[in-house]
Amino acid sequence: MKVASLTTFQTDPASFYAWLHPLMQSILAAKPNKAHFALAKLAAKGIIKTIITQNIDFLHQRAGTIDPIEVHGSLEQFECIQCHTSINYQDDQIKRYLLNGAIPKCPDCKRVLKPAITLFEEMLPINAWEKAYSACTQADLVIAVGTSLEVYPVNLLPELALKQSSNLIINTLSSTHLDKAAAVVLPYDVIQVWQKIQAAFD
Ligand SMILES: [Zn+2]
Repeated sequence: MKVASLTTFQTDPASFYAWLHPLMQSILAAKPNKAHFALAKLAAKGIIKTIITQNIDFLHQRAGTIDPIEVHGSLEQFECIQCHTSINYQDDQIKRYLLNGAIPKCPDCKRVLKPAITLFEEMLPINAWEKAYSACTQADLVIAVGTSLEVYPVNLLPELALKQSSNLIINTLSSTHLDKAAAVVLPYDVIQVWQKIQAAFD
């Protein structure tokens, strides 16, 4: 069984939280890059209407983007499946977990908290998915950045945009199955590309 699954979380939270520990540490140690900052500036100017991410590292927020749509959730919040109380990653309980592995518990009902990320066996967060779906069907232009478009069902979003006859630009180093359908393919480093695009709007 996959450790990053709902079953492991529910039946063996110790193994689940042992697995999460190094991942959480590396995500918190990560810093937003120049592409994250460029996207945040373009979003703040209204040039980019919506940022959708499948990453759980909340680096877009840390770069200043307000409310990106996180279709796989993120490790910014930990929530109680029972009573829906949630705590932020900066809460003392998460600090203790990072320090000594103590499993975070719901402050209200004392159940084990679940990181607000999509695990195997789980559906994508419905609100985020609906927002992403609606943004992609209404957009004039969808730009897929830094993704090889291999993760289902998020990879359906650019296809959806194409079906609604919006333009698709793909900016990733690897080739993707939608390269032929895209209006433009930018097989270059995302940091170089987005620094240039942002500079053009400065
Ligand atoms: Zn609770």
